[in-house]
Amino acid sequence: MENCIFCKIIKGQIPSSKLYEDDDFIVIRDINPLYKVHTLIITKKHIASVNEVTDGDSEIFRSLFSVAKKIAEKENVNGSGFRLVVNSGKDAGQLVPHFHMHLLAGEKLREL
Ligand code: 5GP
Ligand code: ZN
Repeated sequence: MENCIFCKIIKGQIPSSKLYEDDDFIVIRDINPLYKVHTLIITKKHIASVNEVTDGDSEIFRSLFSVAKKIAEKENVNGSGFRLVVNSGKDAGQLVPHFHMHLLAGEKLREL
């Protein structure tokens, strides 16, 4: 998608600090971290939000949590704990309309 920040990051048109990449996901550090560890697990496919996920995307999402687990291990927070968040739509405060899951960790997180 033209003009999508995350599509541009995936294509290497905008720099990012990349932690991981496979056929379906790229994982980068959030530019404006809320916690000591704040990474974004981003689908390579442009999917605007959870509302746009289809059954045809099930192959992509089947590895989402194992990617999250790998990142938690890589960031050494698998023992201390972490939170996974997917904002979808206006009321959730979704800023970037391209599917991503936040992995938040590295310190005590505020209660939901
Ligand atoms: P959302 O509110 O859509 O769930 O979160 C989008 C996240 O993407 C925000 O936490 C924001 O800081 C992050 N973000 C926005 N633009 C960029 C960027 O160009 N690079 C990186 N690394 N993160 C970004
Ligand atoms: Zn996109």
